[in-house]
Amino acid sequence: MLKKVLWQKDWGAYAPFCPYCSEYAYEKDHCVFCGKKYEWDEPKNVPKPTIVEHKGFTIIQTTNNHLQMYKDNRIVMHASCTTKMTEDELRAEVDRYENMRKDR
Ligand SMILES: [Zn+2]
Repeated sequence: MLKKVLWQKDWGAYAPFCPYCSEYAYEKDHCVFCGKKYEWDEPKNVPKPTIVEHKGFTIIQTTNNHLQMYKDNRIVMHASCTTKMTEDELRAEVDRYENMRKDR
């Protein structure tokens, strides 16, 4: 029976690792480092990033609670944050960012 990929915290966010050699699991069926096959497993009970589209921006709160805001596939804002926000609060962040830009 194949072992399943291991989901571990890496730099504050969850990432998949090879269950045999503990290297990063780049491929979904085998390890590019040791060549062994593993079974892909979607993480359970693992926080997922929250992604909200608002006013032409995409705002993402990653699993380590950092905020990233994108417009036209370019990152326009990155901020550290310590609390998990709701989707409404993330929309409010986009509004706040827009108001800041207007003040300039
Ligand atoms: Zn491996």
